[in-house]
Amino acid sequence: MKVPFLDLKAAYLESKEELDAAYRRVMESGWYILGREVRAFEEEFAAYCQAEHCVGVGNGLDALHLILRAYGIGEGDEVIVPANTYIATWLAVSCSGAKPVPVEPDERTYNIDPELIEPAITPRTRAVIPVHLYGQPADMDPINRIAGERGLKVIEDAAQAHGALYRGRRAGSLSDAAAFSFYPVKNLGAVGDGGAVVTDDAELADKVRLLRNHGQRVKNRHEVEGFNSRLDELQAAFLRVKLSKLDDWNRRRRAVAARYLERLDRLPALTLPFVPEWVEPVWHLFIVRYPPRDVLQQHLANTGIGTQIHYPIPPHLSDAYADKGWEPGDFPMSELLAGEILSLPMSPHVQRGQLDKVVGSVEEELV
Ligand SMILES: *Cc1c(COP(=O)(O)O)cnc(C)c1O
Repeated sequence: MKVPFLDLKAAYLESKEELDAAYRRVMESGWYILGREVRAFEEEFAAYCQAEHCVGVGNGLDALHLILRAYGIGEGDEVIVPANTYIATWLAVSCSGAKPVPVEPDERTYNIDPELIEPAITPRTRAVIPVHLYGQPADMDPINRIAGERGLKVIEDAAQAHGALYRGRRAGSLSDAAAFSFYPVKNLGAVGDGGAVVTDDAELADKVRLLRNHGQRVKNRHEVEGFNSRLDELQAAFLRVKLSKLDDWNRRRRAVAARYLERLDRLPALTLPFVPEWVEPVWHLFIVRYPPRDVLQQHLANTGIGTQIHYPIPPHLSDAYADKGWEPGDFPMSELLAGEILSLPMSPHVQRGQLDKVVGSVEEELV
């Protein structure tokens, strides 16, 4: 038995009839950009996130970038970001012209450590972008408090956290504005690229609507220098189908996580995810830590089990930022994590037998 890291075809097959119907509905409508499917999805996803507004955009990176642009953040500004995140969080900041200022994570949750935010603030700081990494919300109350005291915007990178709860409230409604990605592997995934900005701020939503569509509200009246970053009708139609399954699929991810946690708890050499009682994560990924990680990954590969590393190179050490002066040792916790983390197969479609095989194979290597 092989256990793929992820099987996206299984997700399609489970909803094949509804997705195929959505495809035909859009194809036969003859309308493919910014129409009724996008409008309907925006309403449905805003409601799901317990927020007032949703603006569909081209992808998650653009969602973050357009929020920064709409807030007028750019050249000469600084934005605080987690040192351990997917590089897109940083790219959104640097492509706006602002400077990413990395902050180390909490050792147990892997999310940005609120206590380290204050010391990173300078007169140029305009915003903080907490990431709900691996599907677990960051500790938003202290982050919002510090930001409120210092006049900073808080922007959630919720690309891994569709449906996650923080003190009973949904990711996407926990800050000034949130960015979502619908890249196919995400908890709510399209069959291509997609993204969204979610916010209670009507003015921000309006600006993002302008920015995503060449700066126009009315055809041929270009009010601002815009971009092209639109969610398309086909992806919106697929996402509406997927959104109706999101809670069920997240519940299945929780069941997979619960079983991993229970079965792997017997292996003291392995560090398992830590979940504070005030969050309900949606398990975008299931991460274990094991110092000789490469050995474990190789063993699992030899037994037909797919794993991945999220992420092996922290952004400050990426070639993309090689000219910015960061060096190994600058963010030791993030660098340590990058060397020890391993993502086990996690999705709503992991079968009981597959999970048992993963656990058995990990046990073989560790005991
Ligand atoms: C996927 C992801 C993004 C970027 O989303 P795209 O749609 O691929 O641009 C940004 N931040 C995080 C944390 C992500 O996981």
